[in-house]
Amino acid sequence: NTPLHELDPDVAAAVDAELHRQQSTLEMIASENFAPVAVMEAQGSVLTNKYAEGYPGRRYYGGCEHVDVVEQIAIDRIKALFGAEHANVQPHSGAQANAAAMFALLKPGDTIMGLNLAHGGHLTHGMKINFSGKLYNVVAYHVNEETGQVDMAEVERLAKESRPKLIVAGWSAYPRQLDFAEFRRIADEVGAYLMVDMAHFAGLVAAGLHPNPVPHAHVVTTTTHKTLGGPRGGVILSTAELAKKINSAVFPGQQGGPLEHVIAAKAVSFKVAASDDFKERQQRTLDGARILAERLVQDDVKAVGVDVLSGGTDVHLVLVDLRNSELDGQQAEDRLHEVGITVNRNAIPNDPRPPMVTSGLRIGTPALATRGFTTQDFTEVADIIAEALKPSYDAAALKARVSALADKHPLYPGLK
Ligand code: PLP
Repeated sequence: NTPLHELDPDVAAAVDAELHRQQSTLEMIASENFAPVAVMEAQGSVLTNKYAEGYPGRRYYGGCEHVDVVEQIAIDRIKALFGAEHANVQPHSGAQANAAAMFALLKPGDTIMGLNLAHGGHLTHGMKINFSGKLYNVVAYHVNEETGQVDMAEVERLAKESRPKLIVAGWSAYPRQLDFAEFRRIADEVGAYLMVDMAHFAGLVAAGLHPNPVPHAHVVTTTTHKTLGGPRGGVILSTAELAKKINSAVFPGQQGGPLEHVIAAKAVSFKVAASDDFKERQQRTLDGARILAERLVQDDVKAVGVDVLSGGTDVHLVLVDLRNSELDGQQAEDRLHEVGITVNRNAIPNDPRPPMVTSGLRIGTPALATRGFTTQDFTEVADIIAEALKPSYDAAALKARVSALADKHPLYPGLK
């Protein structure tokens, strides 16, 4: 029972340093969030010790009576949260959820359609060296260069030409909402399954602040750690008709023993996601992103070549267009890091710079909203970012403004 600090001071020191980094800087990576202490407590529990291959009530191991309770709670809660007929809460991650969902519905060599990676899609939506690009024949759709929005006319044309077995609607870097009904109409027209990957915007859906894909899609996948604010992990929702196929694709198809400690943490986060506080937090997330987008289209930043893709946002992130800026994506990411704001550079459609450099930044508000940031705080954050992207930036002054915000909203005050 030796505590971590005594047993392994090296690992403990790195964990402590990471806590300090999270507390003292502003986390604006759009796919990140801060899990509640109760979620981390469940994830750090004795459930990590238990093997439970199978599903509640039908396990291949003895002693599953308590993990059965936990997993069933998680299933019931997420079904209620999104109005789904079936839920599988075992995927270890979002990528695993997508792999299992595709494994359930497709055979190697089948055609799938997904949003091109540089246009905002995820690796698992058909990137060449990902399993999705290796196992399946991929036809990618794109955003329209002028509007920055997914070109539904192109989706329909490509679907009719290539007759995919599966169309994936979802994104990792896209500032607008997708038209799920239109995707389903096109899928039905060509006899394809519609899979929506709502990993990024699931929290907004849970709060009723984004259209729910569940009524439109055959399968919906998600991560649990982005806007949803839970532990790192994945979930698959589906129609009752596909339940058996999905379950056997996860186990034994793709995975062995489920991570019951993570499933317990997922269950806790689904309870949180059904609360009024969660809804209020998601509203601040959206407000913060809108405030940021509005600041980054003002004349003073336009003058240094900074712009916002699609002209704004309907979700929790803003995509900054640096094609006309002297700063490339890497330099802009480094610049914000220097003043204490963490973001990631991101390829943008038709990016003239290479993928390791890019001409874009993806900036998200979920983690700061969880930390309690108000619209007034987000106005200050937006101004700090705008100033930091100018050639004349004053690093020390901006860093002090970042520290003041971090101090105003202590993170995990009970943890050392
Ligand atoms: N799907 C989408 C849309 C994502 O953005 C991501 C992660 O960024 C994933 C799936 C994969 O999730 P994970 O990193 O948990 O495998």
